[in-house]
Amino acid sequence: MPADVATHREVFDRVLELLADHFEVDACYLRYNDHDLAATVLVAEWPPQAHSPGPDSSAVLQFRDAGPIMADSENSKDPRVLAAPGQSIAAVPLLWGDITTGTLGLVGARDRAWTEDEMESLRLIAALFAQVQARVRAEGELRYAAYHDSLTGLASRRALLEYLDERLRPGNPGPVAVLFLDLDRLKALNDFLGHRAADTYLCRIGERLMQVNRPVDVVARLGGDEFVVVLAGPATPADAWERAAQIQRVVGESVSLDGQLVGRGVSLGIALGEPGEISSVALLGRADQAMMAVKVQGGNSVGFFTEDMNHEGERRTRIELDLRASIDDDHLILEYQPEVDLRSGAILGVEALVRWNHPVLGTLAPAEFIDVAESTNLAAELGRWVMETACAQLASWKKKIPGLHLVMGINVSPVQLVTVGFDESVASMLRRHGLRGAEVCLEITENVVVGDLRRTRATLSRLERRGVRIAIDDFGTGYSSLGHLKSLPVDTLKIDKGFVQNLHRSEGDRVIVNSIAGLATSFGLDLVAEGIEAEGAVPYLLELGCRRGQGFLLSAPKPSEVVEGMVRAGYIDLPWATGRGSGGFRAR
Ligand code: C2E
Ligand code: CA
Ligand code: CA
Repeated sequence: MPADVATHREVFDRVLELLADHFEVDACYLRYNDHDLAATVLVAEWPPQAHSPGPDSSAVLQFRDAGPIMADSENSKDPRVLAAPGQSIAAVPLLWGDITTGTLGLVGARDRAWTEDEMESLRLIAALFAQVQARVRAEGELRYAAYHDSLTGLASRRALLEYLDERLRPGNPGPVAVLFLDLDRLKALNDFLGHRAADTYLCRIGERLMQVNRPVDVVARLGGDEFVVVLAGPATPADAWERAAQIQRVVGESVSLDGQLVGRGVSLGIALGEPGEISSVALLGRADQAMMAVKVQGGNSVGFFTEDMNHEGERRTRIELDLRASIDDDHLILEYQPEVDLRSGAILGVEALVRWNHPVLGTLAPAEFIDVAESTNLAAELGRWVMETACAQLASWKKKIPGLHLVMGINVSPVQLVTVGFDESVASMLRRHGLRGAEVCLEITENVVVGDLRRTRATLSRLERRGVRIAIDDFGTGYSSLGHLKSLPVDTLKIDKGFVQNLHRSEGDRVIVNSIAGLATSFGLDLVAEGIEAEGAVPYLLELGCRRGQGFLLSAPKPSEVVEGMVRAGYIDLPWATGRGSGGFRAR
């Protein structure tokens, strides 16, 4: 008879009934040994009896509390005939390897004799039971693995989707509320505190989610740092918002990892859907989109999915269509953000940041169109425009301001870097504008580095030979193996602003920046801190040996006319800087 996870109990009952009949006994039972609990657990019996639930139930018996017959079955390896008052019991162990996994028992009258043959048959039957038991257990484990996240024990994506399918079936009560959570900048924990610490952190977050949500809500982990909560029962937007805010508060509290307090922000997106009107995948996608929108706006907040996000696709198409024309039509502009020496305020360089004055959509930030450019083969063209414009700007400032020493930071997209002849085109641009290689610093993200390491290395090496500087941007957020750093001709690490913004308040961020500083020292690289917003961060940076910085505290990115005044002055007045009179550019 086929027996699986779903049917095995029924099959067992039936088999026991047949055995009772065949061996002409009064009762049969099948019990499994739970060695973790040191208990014997009733699986099936014939004839069925009522077992009271609870700890006193005879269905689950601790071996030490059980009578001598049961106690004997814990590790017994051979079939035995045992005498009980008025009864004779044939007890046959279920064996799996050298473990006794249970007992098949046949209970007859006291004068029931058990022949050798009968005992041999029972041994074979017990072996079959043991096999089924092992298979059922394995199936159960596989099923558990498929429906649970192995790290946190929370529901898996598959379990989540099946549950949502059920909730969203037409006719079921709605709306169904889905909360999509993403921890901000978790990757860095992995990189700098190690996998174990990051795993521990994720587990703690999982536990907190279980605590804030009622046991009936479904809490899932989709891998990485993404978690989903589905509120049990119909939920109003107000319910969902309240819960999301609560989750954000609780999950955002610091976790102590090896004595260090680490806290990450949480971005939460909420989407509500009516059963019968939306699929599980679409609802989950909406919650994800809402979360992404929160992230784009800086993260650590809560947001609803809105219909506007549906129009995102249209907006993107429009951006795609208009971008090519804009590159020729003067709708793109560059702003420049100074990079200063944090001790003196001296302006060491400026970073060129592109903006798009879209005739209809208004000023667009690079986040809105850079990836469109990359996905439509416009990245190279856009990149050329940026580089040309930035080089021309630097050449013009140099002409106007004799003795100017300034490095122009230019962001290079991954696609651009691997285009054929990239280094040649940089070289010819420098030549045309009379610039030295060392006056330009190309900023590449870590991700580019992993893309095509060999090719990237070759291109960067040729640029290095021309004196061009190379910085790794947003350091700490990407996926490059730190080992790659050694093999690439890189000058500078730019610490991602996410770690700098709260440096004065976050011990965890200080640990990370500290590790980055350590790396920089051991690889002989320069450090630049991005995203300096608070004066409190500066002493920490200086103490860690990071003397170069950018950020709103010093100056936001500004149009070229404004920045021209700054570079002419040569430095920004910093309240904490000494040794220089006034006359510098006022900070901010
Ligand atoms: P990024 O290279 O990391 O540039 C720094 C970003 O941080 C800029 O955003 C800047 O405005 C912002 N920022 C500067 N100081 C602070 C601060 O104190 N606090 C905060 N919260 N933000 C600060 P922006 O201009 O929106 O640029 C975003 C990203 O777009 C850039 O990040 C860069 O990756 C990309 N990008 C910008 N221009 C170009 C370009 O010409 N080519 C390419 N390929 N990418 C570009
Ligand atoms: Ca940059
Ligand atoms: Ca950056």
